[in-house]
Amino acid sequence: SRIKEVEFVKSSGKAKECPKDHRPEFAILGRSNVGKSSLINALVRKKEVALTSKKPGKTQLINHFLVNKSWYIVDLPGYGFAKAPDAARMDWSSFTKGYFLNRDTLVAVLLLVDASVPPQKIDLDCANWLGRNNIPITIVFTKCDKMKASKGKRPDENIRDFQQVIRQNYKVHPPWIMTSSVTGLGRDDLLLHMSQLRNY
Ligand code: GDP
Repeated sequence: SRIKEVEFVKSSGKAKECPKDHRPEFAILGRSNVGKSSLINALVRKKEVALTSKKPGKTQLINHFLVNKSWYIVDLPGYGFAKAPDAARMDWSSFTKGYFLNRDTLVAVLLLVDASVPPQKIDLDCANWLGRNNIPITIVFTKCDKMKASKGKRPDENIRDFQQVIRQNYKVHPPWIMTSSVTGLGRDDLLLHMSQLRNY
């Protein structure tokens, strides 16, 4: 499951502009500021290709990165802006939904969830939407290294709360992995998990 090589392939503004070579892919999705860029950089290590999506104009596009010439990591636009008053609104443009509903080569969505905050409605709504549309998800909890805030709960408590809500509202239990881009926690687990899903 080692990453030896990562190559930025293209940014697509529409689902139908995405690469058509039928290699399997994993889409990475989450709220803005969840730690998506940090996680992608931690996964690919020094290769730093994920920074491409931070360039102006690229953040609202579907960005394909080819790993080891055999599978894709797909960086999707983040949803929800923490400072917006309507942060709980699903603000995907139709192209993001079009991508999920039409992408045959999508193995799973890695749904990033910030473990340093309590369960957020928008993340639960997103998990629900994907689940209802039969799109496989893995919940990737980020920032698991963070210490508890003065009043807040610890990451493991937030994770437990999040899973409890999912259990109450879901028929399926998505797999989940705890990660930290600071300590490297979960990196190898996540890579192994993705290689297992690819080989099914
Ligand atoms: P993005 O908007 O989802 O791409 O998020 P970034 O990767 O830019 O990270 C947002 C903020 O969270 C930055 O200040 C990062 O330094 C911080 N951050 C990201 N991952 C972690 C993590 O694993 N642990 C901690 N403590 N902070 C993180």
